[in-house]
Amino acid sequence: MGILPLETSIVYGPIRSRRLGLSLGVNLLPTGYKLCSFDCVYCHYGRTDVKSLSADARDLPWSSEVLREVRAALRKYPNVDHITFSGNGEPTLHPAFPKIAAAVSELRDELAPNAKLALFSNATTAHLARVREALALFDLPMLKLDAGDPGTLATINRPAAEVSWAHIVEGLGQVPNLIIQSVLIDGEASNARGAAFEAWVETLAQLKPTRVQIYSTDYPVPESGIERVLPYELQRIAEETGKRTGSQINARWL
Ligand code: SF4
Repeated sequence: MGILPLETSIVYGPIRSRRLGLSLGVNLLPTGYKLCSFDCVYCHYGRTDVKSLSADARDLPWSSEVLREVRAALRKYPNVDHITFSGNGEPTLHPAFPKIAAAVSELRDELAPNAKLALFSNATTAHLARVREALALFDLPMLKLDAGDPGTLATINRPAAEVSWAHIVEGLGQVPNLIIQSVLIDGEASNARGAAFEAWVETLAQLKPTRVQIYSTDYPVPESGIERVLPYELQRIAEETGKRTGSQINARWL
């Protein structure tokens, strides 16, 4: 898989994937640029255009538009397996994220009661009570943790200046039924070995997530010098980390 084009609409798909089955995507971010509090070296959407912990509301979809589109899509596809908040950056940056998540949860109950609500978030807002309350609405709140120390965070996730490592760990520690997603990479930036790997394992041991899904990336990524962790090595890391943390760790590849 290479660099993906940005989503051009609020609702997209449904897309079939091994992880989520038939999944309807919800994009609360701008359709014209990528807005994220991270600029991960491996991001499949390429470089972050606007790196911030806040959003320019003028470029974001209105709650009413989101709900209208989700309602129409669920009427058309009532048998989707997941309704997944993802899209062109970090979904929780939308100021109305909690309100929209609650309303989409109600729409799901009404129109697609078998669908699960999923979220991909980078955890940079998980310390905020209003975001954490909304996370409780999700069946699958999947939060990113690629680093176990601020230096690796800076190297791999390249966060916005306002992002705080302490806030990320504090927030993750308070999410119920926490599911962590970690992308492991090697090469010029690595979290798959050495001190960075040890710090990541220690942070997982401290957080005690319900489940951890580890991935690597595929070529090409936005940055040169980033290498994929091969499937057999990912599997070995999953087994070692499971033993050391007591968490269920699953290695997956795209
Ligand atoms: S957090 Fe996700 S969307 Fe943002 S830069 Fe990283 S991989 Fe891309």
